[in-house]
Amino acid sequence: MARNPHAFRPALILFRIQGGTMQHSPKELAYLSTIIKRTAAIRDWDTDLNSSGTKKISEVQCMQIVGEDKIFIATNPGEQDAVRHYLSGFGVNNALDFERCLFMSHELLSMRHQLFNDAVTVRLNNDTKRKYSGQEKLVIDSFRKPSFLAGNYLKLYQDMFNVINDGGTDPAGRKLSWFLRKLIACPVTTNAVKGTGAPLAVLYEYSKAVAVNVLDSIENVHAEIVLLTFLAEEVTTNPHMFENKVVHLGGAKKACAHCAAWIALYKRWMLNTYKVKVRTTENDGGDTRGEANAAETSQRPSRPALATLRGAPKLLFTSAGATDLHHLNTMADDEDLWLLKKHA
Ligand SMILES: [Zn+2]
Repeated sequence: MARNPHAFRPALILFRIQGGTMQHSPKELAYLSTIIKRTAAIRDWDTDLNSSGTKKISEVQCMQIVGEDKIFIATNPGEQDAVRHYLSGFGVNNALDFERCLFMSHELLSMRHQLFNDAVTVRLNNDTKRKYSGQEKLVIDSFRKPSFLAGNYLKLYQDMFNVINDGGTDPAGRKLSWFLRKLIACPVTTNAVKGTGAPLAVLYEYSKAVAVNVLDSIENVHAEIVLLTFLAEEVTTNPHMFENKVVHLGGAKKACAHCAAWIALYKRWMLNTYKVKVRTTENDGGDTRGEANAAETSQRPSRPALATLRGAPKLLFTSAGATDLHHLNTMADDEDLWLLKKHA
C-alpha cells in the first residue's frame, strides 16, 4: 500500500491545538455546554460504528471554580450517561483531550451537510452552522468563543479528513478515526477502533474530581441546580477552602423561571454566608436569550443535611412537589434580611 505523505500523526493534532488554561467565563461555558449537548445527542455513543441511533439531551451545563483547572458538567435528569459516553468515545482523559474533543466536534458540526454522508469528498465551509438548532445558534453565533476553538487550523482539518479516511496503524489514530466517523455517520471500517480507555465515571465526591467531571443527574432537578447543589455540599462542609472564590456557571439554555429564582437566592446565600461569588451568563455581559421553556418544572433538590441549616438553605434544599417561586423570590429580594445577616 502506497504511503500517504499526509498520513495522520496523532502527535501533530495533539500539539497543534494549544491547550488553554481551562479557565472559562460563564458565556464560554455556555458555548462548551452547547457543543457537548449537540454532539452527545447526535449519535448514541454507546453503540458501535454502524448503529444509527441518537439520544435526546435537553440540557447541559458546565461549572468551574476560578483558579482551578477542573470542569464540572451536569445534565437534566437521565441524560448524564449520553454525555459520558460521548466523552469516553473520544477517550477524554484530561483537559487537552477535552479541548481536542470539543474542537473537532464543533468543527465537524459547523460544516456542510454532505460531509455527514460522504467523508471522501469532504468540503470545508465554516459558514454553515447546520447541525446546531436555532436555540443553540444563539450561543454559537453570539457568545464569546473559547480561545482554544478559535484560530486557523487548516492543516488540522486535513489531518482530520485523512484520519477519517484511514485511521492507520497507530492505536490513537484508529481510536480517533472511530470517533470522527461515528460523528459524521460514515460507518466505513478501515482501521477504526472504538476507544476503550478512559470511560468517564460519574463523579459523586468533590475530593475525587479530575480535570473533566460528569455529575450524576438528580430526578426532577435541572442541570444548573445539580451543579450548584454539588457545590453547596462541598462549600458547607469545607467553608475555609472556598472563601473569596468565584464560581462560573454557563449552560446551553438560559435558566427557566424556577431555576432563575432558585439561583438568585442561592447566590445571595453563598456570598453572604461563605463569601463565594457565583457568576452566571447574566453577570457576563448580560444574557438576551429567552427564558428556557422547560418541559418539566425543576423541583428543589432534597438534601436533608443542607436543609437543617437555617434560612435560605432550608428553602433551597427541601424537595417539594409544587415549586414555590413566590417564597424563593421573596427571600432573594428581602434586602433587610441580607443586610441584617451581613452585619450580624
Ligand atoms: Zn430550570
